[in-house]
Amino acid sequence: MIRTRFAPSPTGYLHIGGVRTALFNWLFTRRHGGQFVLRIDDTDAVRNRPEALKPILEGFRWLGINWDEGPEVGGSCAPYFQAQRQSLYTDAALRLLETGHAYPCYRTKEELEAERKDAEKAKKSYVHRGEHRNTRPAECVRLHKERATVIRLKAPEDYTVVVDDLICGKVEVRTDVIGDAVILRADGRALYNFATVVDDAAMNITHVIRAKEHLSNTPVQVLAYQALGYPVPKFAHVPVVNAPKSKDKLSKRKMKQFMTPEVIAQLRAVHAVPTEASDEEIKNREDLNPATVAFYQALGYLPAALVNYFGRLGWSLDDKAEIIPLDQMIANFGLERVNASPASFDPEKLLWLAGEYMRMLPLVDKVNGVIPFLRRAGLVGDTIDEATRSKIRQVVDACGDRLKIYTDVLQYGAFFFRDPVYDPQAVQKRLKKEGAPQLLRDMEGLLQGADPFTATQLESRIKDFCEKNGVKLGDVNHVLRVATTGVMIGPGVFESLAILGKEEVLTRVKTAKGI
Ligand code: GLU
Repeated sequence: MIRTRFAPSPTGYLHIGGVRTALFNWLFTRRHGGQFVLRIDDTDAVRNRPEALKPILEGFRWLGINWDEGPEVGGSCAPYFQAQRQSLYTDAALRLLETGHAYPCYRTKEELEAERKDAEKAKKSYVHRGEHRNTRPAECVRLHKERATVIRLKAPEDYTVVVDDLICGKVEVRTDVIGDAVILRADGRALYNFATVVDDAAMNITHVIRAKEHLSNTPVQVLAYQALGYPVPKFAHVPVVNAPKSKDKLSKRKMKQFMTPEVIAQLRAVHAVPTEASDEEIKNREDLNPATVAFYQALGYLPAALVNYFGRLGWSLDDKAEIIPLDQMIANFGLERVNASPASFDPEKLLWLAGEYMRMLPLVDKVNGVIPFLRRAGLVGDTIDEATRSKIRQVVDACGDRLKIYTDVLQYGAFFFRDPVYDPQAVQKRLKKEGAPQLLRDMEGLLQGADPFTATQLESRIKDFCEKNGVKLGDVNHVLRVATTGVMIGPGVFESLAILGKEEVLTRVKTAKGI
Protein backbone atom coordinates (compact mmCIF):
# COMPACT_ATOMS: atom_id res chain seq x y z
CA MET A 1 0.00 0.00 0.00
CA ILE A 2 1.41 3.34 -1.05
CA ARG A 3 1.49 5.87 1.77
CA THR A 4 2.59 9.45 1.36
CA ARG A 5 2.56 12.43 3.63
CA PHE A 6 2.70 16.17 3.60
CA ALA A 7 4.25 17.63 6.70
CA PRO A 8 3.82 21.39 6.94
CA SER A 9 5.32 23.41 9.73
CA PRO A 10 2.65 25.88 10.79
CA THR A 11 5.02 28.81 10.67
CA GLY A 12 3.17 30.73 8.02
CA TYR A 13 0.22 30.51 5.67
CA LEU A 14 -0.49 27.96 2.97
CA HIS A 15 2.11 28.78 0.37
CA ILE A 16 1.75 27.95 -3.31
CA GLY A 17 4.99 25.94 -3.33
CA GLY A 18 3.77 23.89 -0.38
CA VAL A 19 0.36 23.30 -1.91
CA ARG A 20 1.95 22.14 -5.12
CA THR A 21 4.09 19.62 -3.17
CA ALA A 22 1.05 18.45 -1.22
CA LEU A 23 -0.91 18.10 -4.43
CA PHE A 24 1.80 15.96 -6.03
CA ASN A 25 1.69 13.69 -2.99
CA TRP A 26 -2.08 13.57 -3.15
CA LEU A 27 -2.28 12.89 -6.89
CA PHE A 28 0.35 10.19 -6.67
CA THR A 29 -1.52 8.56 -3.80
CA ARG A 30 -4.92 8.77 -5.44
CA ARG A 31 -3.52 7.38 -8.65
CA HIS A 32 -2.24 4.31 -6.82
CA GLY A 33 -5.15 3.91 -4.44
CA GLY A 34 -2.93 4.64 -1.47
CA GLN A 35 -3.27 6.75 1.64
CA PHE A 36 -2.28 10.35 2.14
CA VAL A 37 -1.28 11.51 5.60
CA LEU A 38 -1.20 15.08 6.83
CA ARG A 39 1.27 15.54 9.64
CA ILE A 40 1.97 18.78 11.41
CA ASP A 41 5.66 19.45 12.05
CA ASP A 42 5.22 21.75 15.01
CA THR A 43 8.31 21.01 17.07
CA ASP A 44 9.83 24.44 16.56
CA ALA A 45 8.18 26.20 19.48
CA VAL A 46 9.68 29.56 18.56
CA ARG A 47 8.59 29.71 14.92
CA ASN A 48 5.42 27.71 15.32
CA ARG A 49 2.20 29.73 15.10
CA PRO A 50 -0.84 27.76 16.24
CA GLU A 51 -3.16 30.21 14.46
CA ALA A 52 -1.57 29.19 11.15
CA LEU A 53 -2.94 25.65 11.33
CA LYS A 54 -6.56 26.54 10.60
CA PRO A 55 -5.88 28.31 7.29
CA ILE A 56 -3.72 25.37 6.19
CA LEU A 57 -6.49 22.85 6.85
CA GLU A 58 -9.14 25.14 5.38
CA GLY A 59 -7.05 25.77 2.30
CA PHE A 60 -6.64 22.07 1.61
CA ARG A 61 -10.31 21.42 2.20
CA TRP A 62 -11.30 24.24 -0.14
CA LEU A 63 -9.05 22.80 -2.85
CA GLY A 64 -10.46 19.34 -2.29
CA ILE A 65 -7.12 17.88 -1.20
CA ASN A 66 -8.44 15.59 1.47
CA TRP A 67 -6.26 13.58 3.80
CA ASP A 68 -6.90 10.02 4.92
CA GLU A 69 -5.16 10.49 8.24
CA GLY A 70 -4.19 13.55 10.18
CA PRO A 71 -5.60 16.47 12.15
CA GLU A 72 -9.37 16.46 12.63
CA VAL A 73 -9.54 13.10 10.85
CA GLY A 74 -7.46 10.92 13.13
CA GLY A 75 -6.06 7.57 12.13
CA SER A 76 -4.20 4.57 13.47
CA CYS A 77 -0.88 6.45 13.68
CA ALA A 78 -2.20 9.32 15.83
CA PRO A 79 -1.21 11.78 17.12
CA TYR A 80 -0.36 13.66 13.91
CA PHE A 81 1.30 16.59 15.64
CA GLN A 82 5.02 16.19 16.20
CA ALA A 83 4.84 18.21 19.40
CA GLN A 84 2.79 15.32 20.84
CA ARG A 85 5.17 12.62 19.66
CA GLN A 86 8.29 13.59 21.59
CA SER A 87 8.46 10.33 23.59
CA LEU A 88 8.81 8.37 20.37
CA TYR A 89 11.86 10.41 19.40
CA THR A 90 13.43 10.05 22.83
CA ASP A 91 12.88 6.29 22.84
CA ALA A 92 14.33 5.96 19.36
CA ALA A 93 17.40 8.04 20.27
CA LEU A 94 18.01 5.96 23.42
CA ARG A 95 17.72 2.82 21.37
CA LEU A 96 20.41 4.14 19.06
CA LEU A 97 22.64 4.81 22.08
CA GLU A 98 22.10 1.23 23.23
CA THR A 99 22.86 -0.25 19.84
CA GLY A 100 26.00 1.79 19.30
CA HIS A 101 24.62 3.98 16.51
CA ALA A 102 24.63 7.16 18.52
CA TYR A 103 26.62 8.79 21.30
CA PRO A 104 26.37 11.68 23.71
CA CYS A 105 28.36 14.76 22.81
CA TYR A 106 29.56 17.29 25.36
CA ARG A 107 31.22 19.75 23.03
CA THR A 108 30.22 23.34 23.63
CA LYS A 109 29.22 25.68 20.84
CA GLU A 110 32.51 27.53 21.24
CA GLU A 111 34.55 24.36 20.97
CA LEU A 112 32.67 23.33 17.84
CA GLU A 113 33.23 26.75 16.34
CA ALA A 114 36.95 26.55 17.09
CA GLU A 115 37.12 23.10 15.46
CA ARG A 116 35.39 24.47 12.40
CA LYS A 117 37.85 27.36 12.16
CA ASP A 118 40.85 25.05 12.52
CA ALA A 119 39.51 22.87 9.70
CA GLU A 120 39.00 25.97 7.55
CA LYS A 121 42.57 27.07 8.19
CA ALA A 122 43.85 23.64 7.25
CA LYS A 123 41.62 23.84 4.15
CA LYS A 124 39.87 20.64 5.18
CA SER A 125 36.14 20.17 4.95
CA TYR A 126 34.70 20.11 8.44
CA VAL A 127 32.68 17.25 9.78
CA HIS A 128 32.14 16.73 13.44
CA ARG A 129 33.18 13.47 15.06
CA GLY A 130 32.58 13.60 18.82
CA GLU A 131 34.93 12.25 21.44
CA HIS A 132 32.50 9.49 22.46
CA ARG A 133 32.09 8.18 18.97
CA ASN A 134 33.92 5.01 19.88
CA THR A 135 32.83 4.73 23.50
CA ARG A 136 31.04 1.47 24.29
CA PRO A 137 27.23 1.65 24.04
CA ALA A 138 26.64 0.80 27.70
CA GLU A 139 28.98 3.59 28.70
CA CYS A 140 27.20 6.00 26.33
CA VAL A 141 23.89 5.14 27.96
CA ARG A 142 25.38 5.64 31.42
CA LEU A 143 26.95 8.97 30.47
CA HIS A 144 23.70 10.21 29.03
CA LYS A 145 21.78 9.17 32.14
CA GLU A 146 24.31 10.93 34.31
CA ARG A 147 24.17 14.17 32.40
CA ALA A 148 21.73 14.57 29.56
CA THR A 149 23.32 16.23 26.58
CA VAL A 150 22.98 16.27 22.83
CA ILE A 151 22.92 12.91 21.12
CA ARG A 152 24.62 12.48 17.79
CA LEU A 153 24.09 9.89 15.11
CA LYS A 154 27.25 8.00 14.23
CA ALA A 155 27.85 8.24 10.49
CA PRO A 156 29.42 4.93 9.39
CA GLU A 157 32.99 5.16 8.17
CA ASP A 158 33.98 4.66 4.59
CA TYR A 159 30.46 4.35 3.31
CA THR A 160 28.47 5.84 0.44
CA VAL A 161 24.87 6.84 0.97
CA VAL A 162 22.88 6.33 -2.21
CA VAL A 163 19.61 8.15 -2.73
CA ASP A 164 17.81 7.02 -5.85
CA ASP A 165 15.58 10.02 -6.18
CA LEU A 166 12.52 9.50 -8.36
CA ILE A 167 12.80 13.02 -9.77
CA CYS A 168 16.40 14.13 -9.30
CA GLY A 169 18.04 10.81 -10.11
CA LYS A 170 20.85 9.10 -8.24
CA VAL A 171 22.60 11.09 -5.55
CA GLU A 172 25.65 9.58 -3.88
CA VAL A 173 27.29 11.04 -0.80
CA ARG A 174 30.34 9.71 0.99
CA THR A 175 30.02 9.63 4.77
CA ASP A 176 33.33 11.43 5.19
CA VAL A 177 31.47 14.61 4.27
CA ILE A 178 28.53 13.88 6.56
CA GLY A 179 29.02 15.05 10.12
CA ASP A 180 27.65 13.11 13.05
CA ALA A 181 24.29 14.85 13.10
CA VAL A 182 22.63 15.95 16.32
CA ILE A 183 19.40 13.99 16.67
CA LEU A 184 18.35 15.05 20.14
CA ARG A 185 19.10 18.39 21.80
CA ALA A 186 20.36 18.66 25.36
CA ASP A 187 16.84 19.59 26.49
CA GLY A 188 15.56 16.36 24.92
CA ARG A 189 13.84 17.82 21.85
CA ALA A 190 14.35 16.02 18.56
CA LEU A 191 15.77 17.68 15.48
CA TYR A 192 13.89 17.76 12.19
CA ASN A 193 16.08 15.14 10.51
CA PHE A 194 15.40 12.67 13.27
CA ALA A 195 11.76 13.36 14.10
CA THR A 196 10.92 13.08 10.42
CA VAL A 197 12.54 9.68 10.10
CA VAL A 198 10.96 8.32 13.26
CA ASP A 199 7.54 9.55 12.13
CA ASP A 200 7.82 8.53 8.50
CA ALA A 201 8.81 5.06 9.65
CA ALA A 202 6.11 4.85 12.33
CA MET A 203 3.52 6.01 9.82
CA ASN A 204 4.68 3.47 7.22
CA ILE A 205 5.35 6.14 4.63
CA THR A 206 6.48 4.48 1.43
CA HIS A 207 7.16 7.60 -0.67
CA VAL A 208 8.56 10.83 0.68
CA ILE A 209 7.66 13.49 -1.87
CA ARG A 210 8.86 16.86 -0.69
CA ALA A 211 10.56 20.12 -1.61
CA LYS A 212 13.98 19.90 -3.19
CA GLU A 213 15.48 22.04 -0.44
CA HIS A 214 15.35 18.88 1.68
CA LEU A 215 17.46 16.80 -0.69
CA SER A 216 20.57 17.81 1.25
CA ASN A 217 18.97 16.43 4.44
CA THR A 218 18.16 13.10 2.88
CA PRO A 219 21.55 11.34 3.25
CA VAL A 220 21.51 11.93 7.02
CA GLN A 221 17.92 10.72 7.14
CA VAL A 222 18.88 7.58 5.22
CA LEU A 223 21.60 6.92 7.80
CA ALA A 224 19.01 7.34 10.55
CA TYR A 225 16.68 4.82 8.89
CA GLN A 226 19.51 2.34 8.55
CA ALA A 227 20.65 2.83 12.13
CA LEU A 228 17.13 2.30 13.39
CA GLY A 229 16.75 -0.78 11.20
CA TYR A 230 13.80 0.63 9.31
CA PRO A 231 13.17 0.19 5.59
CA VAL A 232 14.16 3.31 3.67
CA PRO A 233 11.24 4.87 1.76
CA LYS A 234 11.49 6.07 -1.81
CA PHE A 235 12.30 9.74 -2.21
CA ALA A 236 11.14 12.28 -4.73
CA HIS A 237 12.35 15.85 -4.37
CA VAL A 238 10.20 18.35 -6.15
CA PRO A 239 11.95 21.39 -7.66
CA VAL A 240 11.09 24.82 -6.35
CA VAL A 241 8.49 27.13 -7.81
CA ASN A 242 10.03 30.39 -8.97
CA ALA A 243 8.42 33.81 -8.81
CA PRO A 244 6.90 35.07 -12.08
CA LYS A 245 9.51 35.96 -14.70
CA SER A 246 12.25 35.46 -12.15
CA LYS A 247 15.01 33.09 -11.23
CA ASP A 248 14.25 33.60 -7.55
CA LYS A 249 12.07 31.38 -5.48
CA LEU A 250 8.46 32.44 -5.18
CA SER A 251 8.15 34.40 -1.97
CA LYS A 252 5.72 36.72 -0.24
CA ARG A 253 8.07 39.61 -0.89
CA LYS A 254 8.23 38.81 -4.60
CA MET A 255 4.48 38.37 -4.90
CA LYS A 256 3.53 41.64 -3.24
CA GLN A 257 3.65 43.33 -6.64
CA PHE A 258 0.43 41.52 -7.54
CA MET A 259 -1.42 43.36 -4.81
CA THR A 260 -2.34 46.02 -7.34
CA PRO A 261 -4.78 48.88 -6.59
CA GLU A 262 -7.45 46.99 -8.59
CA VAL A 263 -6.96 43.83 -6.54
CA ILE A 264 -7.01 45.80 -3.30
CA ALA A 265 -10.27 47.41 -4.43
CA GLN A 266 -11.76 43.96 -5.08
CA LEU A 267 -10.66 42.71 -1.68
CA ARG A 268 -12.20 45.77 -0.09
CA ALA A 269 -15.40 45.33 -2.08
CA VAL A 270 -15.95 41.84 -0.73
CA HIS A 271 -14.85 42.90 2.75
CA ALA A 272 -11.99 40.42 2.77
CA VAL A 273 -10.09 43.13 4.65
CA PRO A 274 -11.19 45.53 7.41
CA THR A 275 -12.59 48.80 6.06
CA GLU A 276 -10.19 50.86 8.12
CA ALA A 277 -7.06 49.06 6.83
CA SER A 278 -4.84 51.21 4.64
CA ASP A 279 -3.71 50.02 1.20
CA GLU A 280 -0.24 49.56 2.61
CA GLU A 281 -1.55 47.39 5.42
CA ILE A 282 -3.50 45.26 2.97
CA LYS A 283 -0.44 44.90 0.79
CA ASN A 284 1.50 43.66 3.80
CA ARG A 285 -1.10 41.17 4.96
CA GLU A 286 0.70 37.84 5.15
CA ASP A 287 -2.44 35.76 5.16
CA LEU A 288 -3.71 37.33 1.94
CA ASN A 289 -0.44 37.60 0.05
CA PRO A 290 -0.62 36.42 -3.58
CA ALA A 291 1.84 33.64 -2.62
CA THR A 292 -0.90 32.10 -0.49
CA VAL A 293 -3.97 30.12 -1.47
CA ALA A 294 -6.22 32.37 0.64
CA PHE A 295 -5.61 35.24 -1.78
CA TYR A 296 -7.13 33.33 -4.69
CA GLN A 297 -9.97 32.08 -2.55
CA ALA A 298 -10.81 35.63 -1.47
CA LEU A 299 -10.91 36.77 -5.09
CA GLY A 300 -13.18 33.95 -6.16
CA TYR A 301 -10.94 31.71 -8.24
CA LEU A 302 -12.47 28.30 -8.82
CA PRO A 303 -10.59 25.74 -6.74
CA ALA A 304 -10.60 23.28 -9.65
CA ALA A 305 -8.68 25.80 -11.75
CA LEU A 306 -6.08 26.24 -9.05
CA VAL A 307 -5.67 22.49 -8.66
CA ASN A 308 -5.22 22.17 -12.41
CA TYR A 309 -2.71 25.01 -12.42
CA PHE A 310 -0.71 23.72 -9.44
CA GLY A 311 -0.72 20.24 -10.94
CA ARG A 312 0.83 21.61 -14.11
CA LEU A 313 3.51 23.50 -12.20
CA GLY A 314 6.35 21.21 -13.08
CA TRP A 315 4.34 18.17 -14.16
CA SER A 316 2.98 17.58 -17.63
CA LEU A 317 0.57 15.13 -19.13
CA ASP A 318 2.04 15.52 -22.59
CA ASP A 319 3.67 18.38 -24.41
CA LYS A 320 0.60 20.54 -24.79
CA ALA A 321 -2.36 19.83 -22.49
CA GLU A 322 -3.04 22.76 -20.15
CA ILE A 323 -6.61 22.02 -19.18
CA ILE A 324 -6.49 18.70 -17.42
CA PRO A 325 -9.60 17.77 -15.46
CA LEU A 326 -8.91 16.26 -12.07
CA ASP A 327 -9.91 12.70 -12.92
CA GLN A 328 -7.55 12.77 -15.88
CA MET A 329 -4.80 14.20 -13.73
CA ILE A 330 -5.27 11.49 -11.14
CA ALA A 331 -5.36 8.77 -13.79
CA ASN A 332 -2.11 9.97 -15.35
CA PHE A 333 -0.03 11.53 -12.62
CA GLY A 334 3.44 10.07 -12.32
CA LEU A 335 6.69 11.32 -10.85
CA GLU A 336 8.57 10.42 -14.03
CA ARG A 337 6.96 13.40 -15.75
CA VAL A 338 7.87 15.86 -13.05
CA ASN A 339 10.42 18.26 -14.42
CA ALA A 340 13.69 18.28 -12.50
CA SER A 341 14.19 21.99 -13.08
CA PRO A 342 12.24 24.77 -11.35
CA ALA A 343 8.76 25.68 -12.48
CA SER A 344 7.74 29.28 -12.86
CA PHE A 345 4.55 30.73 -11.43
CA ASP A 346 2.62 32.62 -14.06
CA PRO A 347 -0.38 34.58 -12.70
CA GLU A 348 -1.62 35.41 -16.20
CA LYS A 349 -1.80 31.78 -17.15
CA LEU A 350 -3.55 31.00 -13.91
CA LEU A 351 -6.16 33.67 -14.62
CA TRP A 352 -6.62 32.34 -18.13
CA LEU A 353 -7.14 28.85 -16.76
CA ALA A 354 -9.54 30.20 -14.15
CA GLY A 355 -11.53 31.74 -17.00
CA GLU A 356 -11.59 28.44 -18.88
CA TYR A 357 -12.90 26.60 -15.84
CA MET A 358 -15.49 29.29 -15.26
CA ARG A 359 -16.58 29.02 -18.87
CA MET A 360 -17.15 25.29 -18.51
CA LEU A 361 -19.25 25.74 -15.39
CA PRO A 362 -23.03 25.44 -15.87
CA LEU A 363 -24.87 28.75 -15.44
CA VAL A 364 -26.69 27.57 -12.33
CA ASP A 365 -23.37 26.84 -10.61
CA LYS A 366 -21.98 30.22 -11.58
CA VAL A 367 -25.06 31.87 -10.11
CA ASN A 368 -24.66 29.96 -6.86
CA GLY A 369 -20.96 30.82 -6.91
CA VAL A 370 -21.33 34.58 -7.30
CA ILE A 371 -24.04 34.92 -4.65
CA PRO A 372 -21.69 34.81 -1.62
CA PHE A 373 -19.50 37.46 -3.26
CA LEU A 374 -22.45 39.72 -4.04
CA ARG A 375 -23.61 39.20 -0.48
CA ARG A 376 -20.20 40.05 0.98
CA ALA A 377 -20.20 43.19 -1.13
CA GLY A 378 -23.59 44.11 0.33
CA LEU A 379 -25.28 43.97 -3.07
CA VAL A 380 -27.79 41.25 -2.22
CA GLY A 381 -29.31 40.25 1.09
CA ASP A 382 -29.20 37.01 3.02
CA THR A 383 -32.26 35.55 1.38
CA ILE A 384 -32.41 35.50 -2.37
CA ASP A 385 -35.94 35.61 -3.78
CA GLU A 386 -36.81 34.28 -7.21
CA ALA A 387 -36.70 37.75 -8.80
CA THR A 388 -33.23 38.44 -7.46
CA ARG A 389 -32.01 35.02 -8.50
CA SER A 390 -33.34 35.59 -11.98
CA LYS A 391 -31.61 38.96 -12.15
CA ILE A 392 -28.32 37.43 -10.97
CA ARG A 393 -28.73 34.76 -13.63
CA GLN A 394 -29.18 37.42 -16.31
CA VAL A 395 -26.20 39.42 -15.04
CA VAL A 396 -23.93 36.37 -14.97
CA ASP A 397 -25.12 35.42 -18.43
CA ALA A 398 -24.49 38.93 -19.73
CA CYS A 399 -20.99 38.95 -18.20
CA GLY A 400 -20.20 35.92 -20.34
CA ASP A 401 -16.49 35.18 -20.62
CA ARG A 402 -15.64 38.37 -18.76
CA LEU A 403 -16.42 36.43 -15.61
CA LYS A 404 -13.18 34.57 -14.94
CA ILE A 405 -13.22 34.76 -11.17
CA TYR A 406 -16.23 35.45 -9.00
CA THR A 407 -15.18 38.95 -7.96
CA ASP A 408 -15.32 39.93 -11.64
CA VAL A 409 -19.05 40.16 -11.14
CA LEU A 410 -18.44 43.22 -8.97
CA GLN A 411 -16.32 44.89 -11.57
CA TYR A 412 -18.71 44.19 -14.42
CA GLY A 413 -22.04 44.05 -12.70
CA ALA A 414 -22.20 45.86 -9.35
CA PHE A 415 -24.34 48.63 -10.90
CA PHE A 416 -27.14 46.16 -11.57
CA PHE A 417 -27.64 45.83 -7.84
CA ARG A 418 -27.18 49.40 -6.66
CA ASP A 419 -27.36 52.95 -7.98
CA PRO A 420 -24.59 53.79 -10.40
CA VAL A 421 -21.49 55.40 -8.94
CA TYR A 422 -20.48 57.85 -11.63
CA ASP A 423 -16.80 57.66 -12.43
CA PRO A 424 -15.70 61.29 -12.99
CA GLN A 425 -13.39 60.31 -15.82
CA ALA A 426 -16.17 58.42 -17.60
CA VAL A 427 -18.53 61.34 -17.14
CA GLN A 428 -16.00 63.77 -18.57
CA LYS A 429 -15.14 61.55 -21.50
CA ARG A 430 -18.60 60.34 -22.46
CA LEU A 431 -21.34 62.53 -20.99
CA LYS A 432 -19.66 65.92 -21.31
CA LYS A 433 -18.54 65.27 -24.86
CA GLU A 434 -19.92 67.55 -27.52
CA GLY A 435 -23.30 66.31 -28.69
CA ALA A 436 -23.64 63.87 -25.81
CA PRO A 437 -26.38 65.76 -23.89
CA GLN A 438 -28.52 65.94 -27.02
CA LEU A 439 -27.92 62.27 -27.72
CA LEU A 440 -29.01 61.42 -24.20
CA ARG A 441 -32.24 63.44 -24.64
CA ASP A 442 -32.94 61.63 -27.90
CA MET A 443 -32.32 58.30 -26.26
CA GLU A 444 -34.67 59.12 -23.44
CA GLY A 445 -37.51 59.38 -25.92
CA LEU A 446 -36.49 56.28 -27.76
CA LEU A 447 -36.20 54.20 -24.60
CA GLN A 448 -39.53 55.45 -23.40
CA GLY A 449 -41.17 54.08 -26.51
CA ALA A 450 -39.32 50.75 -26.60
CA ASP A 451 -41.72 47.91 -26.10
CA PRO A 452 -40.96 45.16 -25.28
CA PHE A 453 -37.87 46.39 -23.44
CA THR A 454 -35.63 43.58 -24.64
CA ALA A 455 -32.03 43.58 -25.85
CA THR A 456 -33.01 42.72 -29.44
CA GLN A 457 -35.74 45.33 -29.57
CA LEU A 458 -33.45 47.99 -28.14
CA GLU A 459 -30.67 47.07 -30.49
CA SER A 460 -32.79 47.35 -33.61
CA ARG A 461 -34.40 50.64 -32.50
CA ILE A 462 -31.09 52.22 -31.63
CA LYS A 463 -29.49 51.03 -34.87
CA ASP A 464 -32.40 52.52 -36.78
CA PHE A 465 -31.96 55.80 -34.98
CA CYS A 466 -28.26 55.86 -35.82
CA GLU A 467 -28.87 55.22 -39.47
CA LYS A 468 -31.55 57.86 -39.78
CA ASN A 469 -29.59 60.51 -37.92
CA GLY A 470 -26.12 59.74 -39.18
CA VAL A 471 -24.89 59.01 -35.67
CA LYS A 472 -22.27 56.43 -34.81
CA LEU A 473 -23.60 53.44 -32.87
CA GLY A 474 -20.45 53.52 -30.73
CA ASP A 475 -21.19 57.07 -29.57
CA VAL A 476 -24.73 56.18 -28.55
CA ASN A 477 -23.53 53.11 -26.72
CA HIS A 478 -20.89 55.03 -24.82
CA VAL A 479 -23.34 57.66 -23.68
CA LEU A 480 -25.96 55.12 -22.68
CA ARG A 481 -23.50 52.95 -20.87
CA VAL A 482 -22.05 55.68 -18.70
CA ALA A 483 -25.47 57.25 -18.10
CA THR A 484 -26.98 53.99 -16.84
CA THR A 485 -24.01 52.24 -15.24
CA GLY A 486 -21.64 55.04 -14.23
CA VAL A 487 -18.63 53.28 -15.70
CA MET A 488 -17.03 52.54 -19.05
CA ILE A 489 -16.82 48.78 -18.81
CA GLY A 490 -19.50 46.17 -18.45
CA PRO A 491 -21.52 43.63 -20.38
CA GLY A 492 -23.14 44.56 -23.70
CA VAL A 493 -25.15 47.78 -23.49
CA PHE A 494 -28.40 46.36 -24.86
CA GLU A 495 -28.32 43.38 -22.50
CA SER A 496 -27.52 45.68 -19.61
CA LEU A 497 -30.43 48.00 -20.38
CA ALA A 498 -32.81 45.08 -20.66
CA ILE A 499 -31.69 43.64 -17.34
CA LEU A 500 -32.10 46.99 -15.61
CA GLY A 501 -35.58 47.42 -17.06
CA LYS A 502 -37.28 50.46 -18.55
CA GLU A 503 -38.20 52.23 -15.37
CA GLU A 504 -34.76 51.96 -13.81
CA VAL A 505 -33.04 52.93 -17.05
CA LEU A 506 -35.15 56.06 -17.39
CA THR A 507 -34.50 57.05 -13.77
CA ARG A 508 -30.77 56.66 -14.35
CA VAL A 509 -30.83 58.62 -17.60
CA LYS A 510 -32.62 61.41 -15.76
CA THR A 511 -29.98 61.42 -13.07
CA ALA A 512 -27.22 61.41 -15.67
CA LYS A 513 -28.76 64.41 -17.42
CA GLY A 514 -28.43 66.35 -14.21
CA ILE A 515 -24.74 65.67 -13.69
N1 GLU B 1 8.19 20.42 8.03
C1 GLU B 1 9.07 20.28 6.92
C2 GLU B 1 8.85 21.46 5.99
O1 GLU B 1 7.83 22.10 6.07
C3 GLU B 1 8.81 18.96 6.24
C4 GLU B 1 9.86 18.51 5.35
C5 GLU B 1 9.63 17.10 4.90
O2 GLU B 1 8.67 16.92 4.14
O3 GLU B 1 10.39 16.22 5.30
O4 GLU B 1 9.68 21.78 5.19
